[in-house]
Amino acid sequence: MRIIFLGAPGTGKGTQALYFSKLYAIPQISTGEILRDAVKKGTELGKKAKSIMEAGDLVPDDIILQLIRDRLSEQDCRNGYILDGFPRTIAQAEGLDRILKDNAIQAVIYFDIDKNLVISRLTSRRVCSKCGYNYNLITDPPETDAICRRCGGKVIQRDDDKEETVRNRLQVYEENTAPLVDYYEKKGNLYKIDANGVIDDVRAEIQNVLKNIRD
Ligand code: AMP
Repeated sequence: MRIIFLGAPGTGKGTQALYFSKLYAIPQISTGEILRDAVKKGTELGKKAKSIMEAGDLVPDDIILQLIRDRLSEQDCRNGYILDGFPRTIAQAEGLDRILKDNAIQAVIYFDIDKNLVISRLTSRRVCSKCGYNYNLITDPPETDAICRRCGGKVIQRDDDKEETVRNRLQVYEENTAPLVDYYEKKGNLYKIDANGVIDDVRAEIQNVLKNIRD
């Protein structure tokens, strides 16, 4: 199954992608995670991406496309994958089409959400610095203060989840990524789900769509 989870930051894509990647035993490919890892390790890629990410802007398309090309050629992608946070521009979507050729994306799940909800979700989001698991101070806080319940790592706030950066990320999303809804609608593989609800409801909606998609 080759799937894209599309939507603004803070719509719950990552949380749902984690669940469905386990369910279908396919990798969750988050360009944001790959970049954060590169920044942490101080690689060439990380050095290029660091300040761009801190400002909430987009890393250049050619860098992202090379990264995706490499990642999709790995063995674990043979049976499919969930793309989470990619593509983010029309140029990236076109680049992806060229990479995939006949193995086109089967479903693009579009997480539709009330914009006001996104700001409060993002600014209350916390993340484990070790395993990347997402918490939310309101709906799913870590039980022990700042300690990850899954791996014992330190739970922190991402620099780009601070309010000022969040506002810029949303603007960047509207300008660059929102046009992808149209792009995939025209291709006929876009499925819109209501992402305003609680995690279980959103999960059920996605499940409903994906059960009809077959390889
Ligand atoms: P995310 O975790 O998906 O919110 O991504 C965090 C940050 O990484 C974004 O704000 C961008 O700076 C960068 N990033 C992640 N994915 C992409 C992408 N597909 N294209 C450009 N920049 C990206």
